[in-house]
Amino acid sequence: MIRTIVVLGGGSAGLLAALSLKARLPQLAVRIVHSREIGIIGVGEGSTGDLPNHLHGFLGIDPGDFHKRARPTWKLGVHFEWGPRTSFDYTFTKTFVGSVPGLPRLLGYYAWDDCAALDPNSALMHEGKAFMRLENGVPLIQRNVAYHIENADFVAALEHYATARGIVFTEGKMRAVEPGPEGVGALVLESGERVTADLFVDASGFRSELLGTALGEKFESFDDALFCDRAIAGGWERTTEPLLPYTRAETMDAGWCWQIEHERHINRGYVFSSAFLSDDAAEAEFRRKNPLVQKTRVVKWRSGRHARTWVGNVVAIGNSAGFVEPLEATAIFVISNASRALAVALAESECEPTKTVREVFNCIVTRMWDEIRDFLAIHYRYNTRLETPFWEHCRRATALHGAEPIVRYYEENGPGTAFAGYLLTPETSIFHLEGFYALLLGQRVPHRRVRPPAAAEQQTLATLRATHLAQARRGFGVAESLALIRSPHWQWTPGFYQQ
Ligand SMILES: Cc1cc2nc3c(=O)[nH]c(=O)nc-3n(C[C@H](O)[C@H](O)[C@H](O)COP(=O)(O)OP(=O)(O)OC[C@H]3O[C@@H](n4cnc5c(N)ncnc54)[C@H](O)[C@@H]3O)c2cc1C
Repeated sequence: MIRTIVVLGGGSAGLLAALSLKARLPQLAVRIVHSREIGIIGVGEGSTGDLPNHLHGFLGIDPGDFHKRARPTWKLGVHFEWGPRTSFDYTFTKTFVGSVPGLPRLLGYYAWDDCAALDPNSALMHEGKAFMRLENGVPLIQRNVAYHIENADFVAALEHYATARGIVFTEGKMRAVEPGPEGVGALVLESGERVTADLFVDASGFRSELLGTALGEKFESFDDALFCDRAIAGGWERTTEPLLPYTRAETMDAGWCWQIEHERHINRGYVFSSAFLSDDAAEAEFRRKNPLVQKTRVVKWRSGRHARTWVGNVVAIGNSAGFVEPLEATAIFVISNASRALAVALAESECEPTKTVREVFNCIVTRMWDEIRDFLAIHYRYNTRLETPFWEHCRRATALHGAEPIVRYYEENGPGTAFAGYLLTPETSIFHLEGFYALLLGQRVPHRRVRPPAAAEQQTLATLRATHLAQARRGFGVAESLALIRSPHWQWTPGFYQQ
């Protein structure tokens, strides 16, 4: 029977795990052990649309209070400067597998020449706006819009909520692990204190102190699909740049560059492969293309996941469990989903989880990591923008794994959905066929069903785009929306965010 849980790590993973457990199982005693000397990673600032729902739905954190403390901005999707088009937008909404009256085929079939503004969110991204304007003059804030949040602000806000909900913090460095019959018996801190628990959550970041180091769980590398292994992170204080409602991903010589939008700060970073570029050469390219960048630092990683993330009485969540580069900003997504899955697993097993429960949890987490790897693989395999040794290698060598049947089906039949359930299980898929098609069409990966739309179809498409764009132009920008939700008149609809 699990009554006490110790979380090693007070970064976003440890805090989200602790808060999720406490939200679902308030009777549990949850304690976080963390070391300010070791610190938190300090990067990880874009989310998917799942995060607002996790925070304000599952965890019940008031959105107004969260906006005051963490100061997030909104992210509608990713703006890719990638492939043969000047750019394309990946929104978190369903477009390419959707249909509209007057067009006999799914919308994806009409995206070959121009994939912009086929849905309201892609029109909003095109116009640099965050939300459509409702007839009563207020923004139509949707639940599936993600956040950009500075890592330190996010962690500070989560610490506040954790303390308020009775989660206990112990500041101290763990120096040893005492083995126990289930795996870990106790954490031994530098102070000499022995910290025991019924279940340990390893949220110790890349150090993976419990799962990786103490238990030695096998690490399964993703290095046949993802070749980048480090980033130069930097940024600058915002001057007159518009506050964009999306993350930018720009193709670079040996990787790509992110741009994440905060209210006062622009966060930029170059993800690259050390096999193709030295740190100095990457820094030089990064600064040449971003002359405003101030201080930088290098962060290194290995891509992959542990074979199992719940072993005995240890569950790893966050960078301790696995890591893939932030091209789709998925780490917080996996953290939130694994935290929810753990909380539900404990609740349903009445805090007496069996081997079966652990196996199901491991299967869920493994599937998430692997789908992310497969989705990222198509970003690399089909980006034809640059003829550098790195990109030539990606086009030749990136293993597609689970994306292989999706790409094959698409190449033969276009963005169809006849066998959607065979290609990806709709209930458990993260990106769905929509996401895969958005990247394949965005990069103009050829398929055999490309044909010019008939005159009537062209007219329908032109009207559709013009309508979306005109509505988007009247919409709210990020800065304007932030000012509005901070005004005393604004009220969040109770139960707006659900989980
Ligand atoms: C370049 C880069 C960009 C990224 N961008 C994104 C993004 O846009 N979106 C996204 O979702 N994710 C992103 N990530 C992933 C991001 O790191 C994670 O989302 C997230 O911050 C999780 O961190 P964590 O809590 O696992 O680890 P950390 O923040 O490293 O926290 C580890 C915690 O463990 C504690 N600890 C470790 N060892 C000990 C010990 N021996 N004793 C006591 N305490 C200990 C530390 O003190 C700390 O509190 C990015 C990662 C990188 C490298």
